[in-house]
Amino acid sequence: MGGEFIMAKAYAAQHTIKEMPYASDKLKGISKQQLTYHHDIHYAGYVKKRNEVETALQTVDMNAANANYSLIGELKRRETFNASGQVLHEIYFDVMGGDGNADQKLEVVKKITQDFGSFERWQEEFIASGISTFGWAVLCLDTNDNTLRNYSGDTHNQGCVWGSIPLIPLDVFEHAYYTDQGPNRKAYIEAFLKNIDWKKVNERYKKAIKAC
Ligand code: FE
Repeated sequence: MGGEFIMAKAYAAQHTIKEMPYASDKLKGISKQQLTYHHDIHYAGYVKKRNEVETALQTVDMNAANANYSLIGELKRRETFNASGQVLHEIYFDVMGGDGNADQKLEVVKKITQDFGSFERWQEEFIASGISTFGWAVLCLDTNDNTLRNYSGDTHNQGCVWGSIPLIPLDVFEHAYYTDQGPNRKAYIEAFLKNIDWKKVNERYKKAIKAC
């Protein structure tokens, strides 16, 4: 029994920083400097802190748990903040690198048209969701009822419905665009959409529907 416990501990806190899936100067309207800050400082920071939190959880005093303040309480709050920060950023970087062409023949584009009424309606709501939040607008497949929805949240671990799978996470924290667009968030969102690799989004969708 003791051996199993030690093995379980060995697997915690080993999340690694993923390399950018394409050259950092490849995108249109999102510069190498902007992407490098975002990937190397912000995204990497979430991965490092996730590992720190998971390490601290191995030895924290569970008997001191208290909702007003306790170390275990703060660790549990920061655990999902950093974990969701890691997950959303990895998908964010991964689904860029394309030409923004949403081919009508792709299954995910057909599903967007079906669930939102039209592709334009989805895009209109997605952009408005991104403008009206502090953190993320995310096209998700909500596996609770097999429906695509745009969810938005002010932090990484808030604003989504459990059971939803992110397909296109749009990061609207200032760190995602101030180097290039300053306060013009709408220009950044338009640049983001022009870089979407819809074939990758479609592959993510085809995997996600298996959970429905
Ligand atoms: Fe970010």
